[in-house]
Amino acid sequence: MTTPQVPCVAIVGRPNVGKSSLLNRLAGKRISIVDAMSGVTRDRVTARIHIAMRPVELVDTGGIGIVDTLHLEDQVEHQIEAAVFQADVILFLVDVREGLTPQDREVAGRLRRTSTPVVLVGNKADSRRLVEAGGGELNALGFGEPLLISATQGHGIADLLDAVAGLLPPPEDGADAAAQEAEGRNRIKLALVGRQNAGKSSLLNRLAKAERVIVSEVPGTTRDAVDVRFELGGHVYVAIDTAGMRRRGKFPLAVDFFSQVRTERSIRQCDVALLLLDATQEVSIVDKNLAAYVRAHHRPCILVVNKWDLIQADVASPEDYMRYLRAHLPGLGFAPLAMVSALTGFNLAGLLDLSRSLFQQAGVRVATAEVNRVLEAARERQAPKQRRGKRPKLFYGTQVSVHPPTFVIFVNDPSLFDDEYTRYFENRFREAFPFSEVPVRIHFRRRGGGQDPAAETPVVPDPEGGA
Ligand code: GDP
Ligand code: GDP
Repeated sequence: MTTPQVPCVAIVGRPNVGKSSLLNRLAGKRISIVDAMSGVTRDRVTARIHIAMRPVELVDTGGIGIVDTLHLEDQVEHQIEAAVFQADVILFLVDVREGLTPQDREVAGRLRRTSTPVVLVGNKADSRRLVEAGGGELNALGFGEPLLISATQGHGIADLLDAVAGLLPPPEDGADAAAQEAEGRNRIKLALVGRQNAGKSSLLNRLAKAERVIVSEVPGTTRDAVDVRFELGGHVYVAIDTAGMRRRGKFPLAVDFFSQVRTERSIRQCDVALLLLDATQEVSIVDKNLAAYVRAHHRPCILVVNKWDLIQADVASPEDYMRYLRAHLPGLGFAPLAMVSALTGFNLAGLLDLSRSLFQQAGVRVATAEVNRVLEAARERQAPKQRRGKRPKLFYGTQVSVHPPTFVIFVNDPSLFDDEYTRYFENRFREAFPFSEVPVRIHFRRRGGGQDPAAETPVVPDPEGGA
């Protein structure tokens, strides 16, 4: 584990003081879920930001001593312990409008025991009157004078960043630059998606070997998305954790809506989607919706059959599952399967190997001559059907991008090439080129206005002798 450490800044404080709001303000986008309902931010949420030109990991620790119906206090406290343990600077947030509460004093008591620098921040100082009133009773907490800010209005944020910059540990030699370079070069972004209780949190915890995500038997526990970086065999992965997706149209809380938005975004941003299925359950509408979304966005995908430890070898074989899933998730015929157990760790190394393989496949580039050789053979095997009395003609094709492999095929009239024929080409490309397990995109374009005389002659010969 030689990846240089990026300094970590943790935001700590009782519920509702504005931790999520501050993280959003500093990160400049909506990352953690802010809801007026107390205790909604449960998980740690992290964001990469820059302070004084240095990358910094910002962590929102969720509530201390959080009180809610799910009784997650102990687990949340545990997360804060972990954040405090690895933070280089702690922002201790209190609410200047409400003043100090017993919970604030509890947090203070806890923070006095750490040797990590603590910055006391009085949030919600929205007005001049509140700023001029000064820290007042906050001075008595033992962390010096508080910095007064307003997370929602943006007051005092520059001073706060200056204060943090002064407390960051000195950079290791070239460490930050190296970290950034390593990130870009071989980092694979994974989206862990699947219905509630499929085992997303368990899998993430296993992979990252750290208690970064709350795992609980209560459905719907994982509400915030957590990006987790981990390294295995010299490869860097970023798992984008997502909350379980519910059936469309049933969102009793705004939180569920954000969870779905985030799930979809993580699919759009990932290199490889891990669609987690519970081996003990039938394929559900949620699974089908996720599969359709993955398919529509052309993401490489692994059908991860989790809880394989619960399946008796004589009851169902991997082949049985393969047949069953191919029949129930027809849009993802190219996606390989991985039988795993987040509980025992079975085949998790295999899962990551497969992820890397898909990432490589999606990055393959094919020479134009090769593309046209395959196009020609495909065209000979099955010519596109005549439509509206017009004969479809293919000129030539070329690969225009990767992730996923994307091809443009120049034709006389794109409207003559239907979805079925597009899929036919996709399958021929997947057969011929070393990217058999990832989606392929094909665009038909009308051949340009004859600026290239060579393009006037169809590269793919028309067996019927041309128009
Ligand atoms: P957390 O539980 O500590 O993460 O707190 P949140 O970020 O969820 O904020 C709790 C409530 O305080 C929300 O309704 C926020 O809109 C509100 N809030 C946060 N920062 C400010 C601020 O600077 N001024 C005011 N007036 N309200 C704020
Ligand atoms: P999530 O809602 O998708 O994040 O699911 P969780 O990770 O919270 O897991 C839901 C439940 O399934 C928990 O009780 C886990 O202990 C259990 N679970 C997760 N993975 C496995 C597995 O591989 N085998 C078994 N037997 N149980 C698992």
